[in-house]
Amino acid sequence: MCSGGHSWSCNHVREGGMLIDLSRLDAVEIDADAMVAKVGPGVRGNALDALLETQGLFFPVGHCYGVGLGGYLLQGGFGWCSRVLGMACESVLGIDYVDADGTLRHASEHENAEVLWAARGSGPGFFGVVVRFHLRLVRRPPVIGGALAFYPGARFGAIIRWAQSVGSQVPASVELMFVFSRDAAGEAGVMMIAAVFAETEADAMRDLAFLDARPDGALEFKPFKSNSLAVLTEMTMSHYPEGHNHIVDNLWTHASGDALLPALSHILDDAPAVPCHFIWMNWSPKRRRPDMAFSLEDETYIAIYGIWQDPAHENRVATWVEQGIARLQPFSTGIQLADENLARRAAPFMAPENHARLEALRVRHDPDARFHTYAHAGAGR
Ligand SMILES: Cc1cc2nc3c(=O)[nH]c(=O)nc-3n(C[C@H](O)[C@H](O)[C@H](O)COP(=O)(O)OP(=O)(O)OC[C@H]3O[C@@H](n4cnc5c(N)ncnc54)[C@H](O)[C@@H]3O)c2cc1C
Repeated sequence: MCSGGHSWSCNHVREGGMLIDLSRLDAVEIDADAMVAKVGPGVRGNALDALLETQGLFFPVGHCYGVGLGGYLLQGGFGWCSRVLGMACESVLGIDYVDADGTLRHASEHENAEVLWAARGSGPGFFGVVVRFHLRLVRRPPVIGGALAFYPGARFGAIIRWAQSVGSQVPASVELMFVFSRDAAGEAGVMMIAAVFAETEADAMRDLAFLDARPDGALEFKPFKSNSLAVLTEMTMSHYPEGHNHIVDNLWTHASGDALLPALSHILDDAPAVPCHFIWMNWSPKRRRPDMAFSLEDETYIAIYGIWQDPAHENRVATWVEQGIARLQPFSTGIQLADENLARRAAPFMAPENHARLEALRVRHDPDARFHTYAHAGAGR
């Protein structure tokens, strides 16, 4: 299935498989009184947000333009404000789906509940075609904005140590992320983004107060500024230019800054020029999760984005990503499916008991294996 076509690994293209293009299932119905939206899988997160904004409503959509809600919601959905609102899939109240027999069905907590359980986090391993999601909406946070800082590569070690040490105390309303890269001249740089979602500007400033103790040596610091989500998304998009090829991989960790530093320093030293980059994101989950397929997360998220245009650069970029992940592997507690690379590297993405339950459901709901399951390292795609 292909909804938005934004799977980094092109998971929707499989050897000998049939691809169902769902991108034109892009209707949106918003019931502001019930605080519910019904959306087709082809709706892009940013398009939904633009509609919700006009009604003062909010849903934790992803951080970039163009990501289809189909793949995004099924794999979990790390959205704006997700540290407060939870994974986007937690706000999926129900799905309309076509099962392996070709029957249109509905799943909610009261009907085919085990299918909803699977749809909340199984991602590219879901055994059905979702044709509509029923989403719980919330009131839009009145204040959305953030603070920014730019550091020279020389401050790298101080940044990693500080970020790992403060992560668990960062208020849930704040998404703290660092982007590491090298420019065309080989100069390393670090961008810090601290996005915040709050009731008032005073609350936003209070929640960002931990930045007062940020590492010194910034080339530039831009204190909190109220913005629109579109502006924050635009800023994120600057790292993901159109018309490029990608090799992406990721991992969760709770290792200390000191433990991670040698591997991360090596990855930065070896980085090809922008747009290649890697991110460090503070996740430190604050919410108890409902019982659902999504079940693996940790304090820190690290993802390496190998991005190139010229075919001559492919090997160099792919090697950088693969070697970087291999260096970090000893500290990994698993991966998230948003940036999966399972066709090249096997890694755990669910708690073992949830994975076993999902596979048992697959056998019951798709006994003839009509749907592809997860790509396997070494398997042809
Ligand atoms: C630039 C960029 C930014 C991103 N930012 C974020 C982010 O902020 N947060 C985050 O969580 N993720 C993010 N992602 C990852 C993204 O959410 C996943 O790759 C997701 O799978 C993309 O959904 P899609 O519908 O566009 O992808 P597709 O490639 O269309 O689908 C991916 C897979 O999902 C399954 N699938 C899709 N639609 C359906 C359906 N209707 N029914 C059944 N199965 C289906 C299929 O197995 C398919 O192979 C980003 C990706 C990119 C490229």
